Amino acid sequence: PVPVLAVVGRPNVGKSTLVNRILGRREAVVEDIPGVTRDRVSYDAEWNGRAFTVVDTGGWDPDARGLAERIAAQAEIAVTLADATLFVVDAMVGITDADEEVVKILRRSGKPVILAANKVDDQRTEAETYGLWNLGLGEPYPVSALHGRGSGDMLDAILAVL
Ligand code: GDP
Ligand code: MG
Repeated sequence: PVPVLAVVGRPNVGKSTLVNRILGRREAVVEDIPGVTRDRVSYDAEWNGRAFTVVDTGGWDPDARGLAERIAAQAEIAVTLADATLFVVDAMVGITDADEEVVKILRRSGKPVILAANKVDDQRTEAETYGLWNLGLGEPYPVSALHGRGSGDMLDAILAVL
């Protein structure tokens, strides 16, 4: 069986865009209207000749009551099913309460976590990701899912723990 990577994070941080970047094809649904991804969708991926499964998560209405709890619950399920987790945050927005809830779950899981700071579309924005070391999840990987910036280093880090 190939290892499983779960991609978790708040709506609209760019999880599905990053999944497409990992796949090298547009298969995961990206929407400007958030909350489009169904609860969990699996895809076959490969990097440096190694096969793995990527699970995109989502499916919450960002205006729903108790959104943070829903995200946390989904993260809990995804992490249980996965061998490692790619936790995606929006570097332009920074860390929210919902992000903090997910971090607790990820820490408790004891499984490897790779932290991706997405929407770092240029060099200038990269400096804003240093504060993410404070999450205690190790090195933050600045990426632009949209342009591909940093995705190679992130994938190398993922494969190193998968
Ligand atoms: P998800 O809800 O976490 O799956 O987020 P999506 O992948 O659907 O993306 C939400 C929005 O963020 C879309 O409008 C994307 O085009 C945009 N987006 C995703 N990645 C990036 C990025 O690296 N840079 C910028 N500027 N926008 C991004
Ligand atoms: Mg999505």
